[in-house]
Amino acid sequence: MTNETQLLVLGAGPGGYTAAFRAADLGLKVVLVERWPTLGGVCLNVGCIPSKALLHAASVIQEAAEMSTRGIDFGAPTIDASQLNGWKDEVVSKLTTGLDGLAKQRSVTVMHGTGQFISDNELEVENDGDITRIAFEHCIIAAGSEPSKLESLPDDSRIIDSTGALQLDPLPKNLLVIGGGIIGLEMATVYDSLGVSVSVVEMTKTLIPGCDRDLIKPFQKRISSSYESIMLGTKVTSVIPESDGLSVTFDSDIAPNKQKKYDRILVAVGRQANGHKISADNAGVNVDSKGVIKVDKQMRTNVPHIFAIGDIVGDPMLAHKASYEGRIAAEVVAGKKSFFDARAIPSVAYTDPEIAWVGLSENEANEKNINYEKGVFPWAASGRSLSIGRSEGMTKLLFDKNTGRLLGAGIVGSNAGDLIAEAALAIEMGADAADIGMTIHPHPTLAETVSFAAEASEGVITDLYMPKS
Ligand code: NAD
Repeated sequence: MTNETQLLVLGAGPGGYTAAFRAADLGLKVVLVERWPTLGGVCLNVGCIPSKALLHAASVIQEAAEMSTRGIDFGAPTIDASQLNGWKDEVVSKLTTGLDGLAKQRSVTVMHGTGQFISDNELEVENDGDITRIAFEHCIIAAGSEPSKLESLPDDSRIIDSTGALQLDPLPKNLLVIGGGIIGLEMATVYDSLGVSVSVVEMTKTLIPGCDRDLIKPFQKRISSSYESIMLGTKVTSVIPESDGLSVTFDSDIAPNKQKKYDRILVAVGRQANGHKISADNAGVNVDSKGVIKVDKQMRTNVPHIFAIGDIVGDPMLAHKASYEGRIAAEVVAGKKSFFDARAIPSVAYTDPEIAWVGLSENEANEKNINYEKGVFPWAASGRSLSIGRSEGMTKLLFDKNTGRLLGAGIVGSNAGDLIAEAALAIEMGADAADIGMTIHPHPTLAETVSFAAEASEGVITDLYMPKS
């Protein structure tokens, strides 16, 4: 059977469903193809959303424990991992069924099955042995990415990826996380709060490589006292499965051939784009050796009527970048003159404390010799931060020394992921320190720290004493 459509969207993650819905709203006939039984892709089903539900549980446990020294003792928590899993799955299901409803309201045809190109205007969808062909005028590829594997590791069900890590039941006694990036550290935060003894091994000399050191420092200090170990500049050289655990050998300058046994290992060493999984060559679409499809500012591939968005077009692999790109691609297909022209894309690690950054980092400014003015506000001077029992945060703003405009921001502390949105807007609007500092922020809030950092850079702050240099 062959169906025909104006626009075919391959993949229903945040990029794909946004593209499909926007295109339908612009009057196009749209078919959305998804291999999983539910819409929402990695983000909703096995990524951002379920992990945030578990991180909420983690923060409730942490906050309750910390109150015990402040006059309220709830006692040790009783954890029913199966019930917690159930609640997390309910959150996911509410959102994915919501997407089904949104697709229906827009008359987007959802087709479940695995899609492979057979030419530059036809895709074959296989579902349980049934094959359907769809002929399209335009296509948006939004087929995402999957966790990178470490080929040297044995095949053992106790070695899991980010999807496996979301299934908490049964909880291991101890967990080794390979990879000190965002996924590894978010899941480490969850398991640590649930009472699992957590170790992290990271091959570079720093956690979340690429992020400014001063933003990592308060987080690293906090986890140093609760995690069993954080092994930086260290490689796993072998993992031997044994009946009572996984025997791991580590190699580093400080501890060569150190050995330790773990109940479970989480591999979180990055993600691989799915470009080689969709027979893109049958459509003439170029895919590089990493599975990435190159696109222009209108999200167009080398084949003019085929577009690509989201993780499959490469880093940063973030849901909010994918949905932005999805909207651009849909508008271009519908004949609008839209372009990817965002000045900055925020990144957030939902750890405890959260770490968030947007635009220029100090690392990048120093590498590129960019002349900047820095404003920093330490949260130890924030009434709101102290009143929630936390003093380790920091808000940092980087302004262009010539134009005065905000170029970048970094925040570490509670809710940093929400607070960074103000800096992203300020960058997009070309705001300078006076614009931010003279915007009246509500008191007492963590958001105030953004205006205080701007005042610090202008030298007009009164909530800190800064001697004139
Ligand atoms: P990552 O690239 O962010 O981090 C992987 C880490 O593993 C790096 O620090 C790397 O140096 C280390 N590593 C690689 N090989 C190793 C080895 N053999 N031994 C020890 N360490 C090793 O990847 P990730 O954390 O898996 O995340 C994947 C993608 O998903 C990223 O693009 C990330 O931004 C995105 N993501 C974002 C969020 C969020 O926005 N909150 C959440 C999850 C994932």
